[in-house]
Amino acid sequence: MTRGVGEVLPLPSPLVSRIGRFLVLHEESFVGVSISSNVYILREEGSFYIFDASGHPSLLSYLASTGIHRSLIAGVFLTHGHYDHVRGLESLREYSTKAYISSRDMRLMEETVRGYPSCSDLSEASEVLSKLGLVSIPTPGHTPGSACFYSPGESLLISGDTVFADGYFGRTDLPGGSDSEMLESLERLSQMRIEALLPGHGPVVSERGSRHILEALSCAKGMLRR
Ligand SMILES: [Zn+2]
Repeated sequence: MTRGVGEVLPLPSPLVSRIGRFLVLHEESFVGVSISSNVYILREEGSFYIFDASGHPSLLSYLASTGIHRSLIAGVFLTHGHYDHVRGLESLREYSTKAYISSRDMRLMEETVRGYPSCSDLSEASEVLSKLGLVSIPTPGHTPGSACFYSPGESLLISGDTVFADGYFGRTDLPGGSDSEMLESLERLSQMRIEALLPGHGPVVSERGSRHILEALSCAKGMLRR
């Protein structure tokens, strides 16, 4: 069957769940791209804040299908600069939606999203994050500018590609990766109280997140060099 010119394509049907205050747009939702990331969405006073932008250039259509209109998106926070986490910014480019990433990963991001009009270092996001009950934590290792977002009130961690469920941790063999920094980052995270673990890929953990991080640290100690 061929589609007529001007025919409106149906909106995608994303796989969505909820964990605490966050809506989870699972990575399996994104079709037509080789790899994507989970996307986490937080609503605060009528505005939406996005954590990681997926690897799909039409992220906005996925957000629209969950009822999130572009005019309500107030900011995008990126855990790191890999294409499967940032490519969705393309769909927000024309609206100049504010985006934040560690300056150490800015160039990496720009390999995928060139000349995004409104992107700042995470240090400039602290006020907005604080309003959302969150802090950013530098966790280099997977990339130099990798960061996690932590909610002390909920003991919840958005962990990007630093640490995943079931003792997995991020690759350190890609450009800019570092075994020793990954070990330090996992040690830092293992000292925090974490219940919900919201990683960049794979399943979301709703309780006892610290156990998964301790398992990752234990594996990393056996596999990585200081
Ligand atoms: Zn990555």
